[in-house]
Amino acid sequence: MSLDTEHENVQAALAAEALDALDGEEREALHAHLAGCAECRAELESLREAASLLAHTAPHVPLAPARSDRIRARLLARAAADVRGGEAAEPVVAAPETRVIPIASRRRSALPAWLAAAASVLIAIGLGAYALSLRGRVSSLEQQTASLSRDRGRLESTLAEREATLAALAGPEVRVITLASTQERAPSGRMFWNPVRRRYTFFAYNLPQVRPGREYQLWLITPAGPVAAPTFRPGRDGAGSVEGAYDVPNEQIRAVAVTEEPAGGLPKPTGEVLIVGNAAE
Ligand SMILES: [Zn+2]
Repeated sequence: MSLDTEHENVQAALAAEALDALDGEEREALHAHLAGCAECRAELESLREAASLLAHTAPHVPLAPARSDRIRARLLARAAADVRGGEAAEPVVAAPETRVIPIASRRRSALPAWLAAAASVLIAIGLGAYALSLRGRVSSLEQQTASLSRDRGRLESTLAEREATLAALAGPEVRVITLASTQERAPSGRMFWNPVRRRYTFFAYNLPQVRPGREYQLWLITPAGPVAAPTFRPGRDGAGSVEGAYDVPNEQIRAVAVTEEPAGGLPKPTGEVLIVGNAAE
């Protein structure tokens, strides 16, 4: 037998060896060839891995029952024909559960070429199913990753806002203006005012609910008159907050006040002053 022919024969039988289905002379011949052929050794190694993957994959991605029954019936019919040699004139189609050939008896005879081919086909089917299930898992992991990274983006932007608020509040230069009222369950407010960053963060408490179409508006009171700041709407607990930047010179801010105005606010106040605090305190 030429080396090339031997190599081809061994290649054809490798799948059967991976399934531990070779015996006797055929197995010895195969291993004698393997000793001198790295390509066949590598091929056998990968077929063995594939065969062990099949064991894990089969329960998750079974063949369609009709298809696997047809394949099994064909294999069994061929096996029966081989066992009886030339006597088998007609193919025998047997129910799989009654005609499964025990591995021990199969091992006693040399492996027919068709079984090696069938083993290759089964490995290919199994690898296809395995690849399919891997692809499914990868795509579900990709979706989870995308969703986590969206969550992370939201958290980071919330965190950045909080940090900006804290930075505006926390400096040694920050001044606090307390706004008070004389009413019962009195509304009150506290303005954290950073004259270096020229930003303020204002909190109000116990504010009465506003009517529809109305909001509270914050004012910076200067000698030239009130300077409009943003509007806000208190929550159910009467608390509200607003933050912003200003470009009034620091020394001109004499007081801070809150009025009720049409939603969106006005350039000059029209409502009564609800709370007021002195910036010069
Ligand atoms: Zn070889």
